[in-house]
Amino acid sequence: MVGQEPPEELENGPPLGTSGNLLPRDPPSPVPEASARVKTRAIRYALARFLWTRSGLKSVRLCRVPVSDVVRVGIHGSDFIAHISGVARCSSPWSCPLCAPRVRQGRAEEIEQGLRFALDTGMSALFISTTLQHGSRDPLAQTFDLLRRGHRLIHSGKHWKALHQSLDYAGAIRAWEITHGRNGFHPHSHELALFEGQVSDDQIRALEDHYTRVYGRFLAKHGLYLHPVHGIDVRRVQSAGDLAGYLTKMDDSTWGAGLELARQDLKTGKRQSQTPFELLADATDGDLRAWALWREYEDATKGKRAISWSRGLKARLLVATDDQGATDEDLAALAPDADEVWGIDLPPKTWAAVRMAGGIAELITMCEQEARSGQKETADAE
Ligand SMILES: [Zn+2]
Repeated sequence: MVGQEPPEELENGPPLGTSGNLLPRDPPSPVPEASARVKTRAIRYALARFLWTRSGLKSVRLCRVPVSDVVRVGIHGSDFIAHISGVARCSSPWSCPLCAPRVRQGRAEEIEQGLRFALDTGMSALFISTTLQHGSRDPLAQTFDLLRRGHRLIHSGKHWKALHQSLDYAGAIRAWEITHGRNGFHPHSHELALFEGQVSDDQIRALEDHYTRVYGRFLAKHGLYLHPVHGIDVRRVQSAGDLAGYLTKMDDSTWGAGLELARQDLKTGKRQSQTPFELLADATDGDLRAWALWREYEDATKGKRAISWSRGLKARLLVATDDQGATDEDLAALAPDADEVWGIDLPPKTWAAVRMAGGIAELITMCEQEARSGQKETADAE
């Protein structure tokens, strides 16, 4: 997959609100209505364009700049999936409105594949959420770091080793999520823990006790604490169908239930918690506080993995032949399967001008329309 150019439309495939899920929807999302696709694309490119001149991350500022002698907009297959070649991609799973949905969608598909294999072959799974209590002045860099270090502690030491063995623990897939609410940034983890066999209620309690004890003690040492009810949440994943329930929980974590919806919430003033991209949307409206928060989020997540698998688990679940598998770069640059049905080549200078003028979303939509009408003419002529 390395080196292949990505389908621009893939980022418009899943609606906002589902692309950051640890667990994908089931079955895979259908191609959205053309109008929804156009709207989503317009929002994402508007957010990206805002970052192109302001982001603290160089790779995000340079996302979609031309890197070849020619930039090609290709339209693929009967669904008219757009695909742009000859441009750079930052591949950030956190901070790029164009790359993050695509990387996360790719990760969600891997997780779905792995989980299906696990459940089909007699393994079992638990869905574990972990967070920490914090105040509005606690810097994200610090709370996120504590959450991550706490997790490393949970999964090390003699007691964990014994538990690991008694549970026949196969490993976990972990996604870090960050939202912002009245009490400041709220980092939390969603973990899909997999076991070779079935786990009893007693074993689940033992696991929960271990998390509470190790992680609670660690937080206390750093002046924070674990909420007795909401700090750790463990649920069984019985079947692939169960995923839907977890999905809703996670939808809001990364993208929000859609930026359009967020705008409505903003109007009624009922908004409790915002996703980073919702903060960014506020920043584009001139909200300087939201912009400062977004910059804090950019810095705190820079270079960190958004979703990771335990060593050996990808191979165990036949998702990849080794631990590495597809990189974020691979996923951000994934090409569509379907053949190109229409395409146009642009000089890099022209592309760069359209990019800075904020015209890419519209350009892609025009290309799609051309491809559609071209197909129709062919059909009419036959
Ligand atoms: Zn990007």
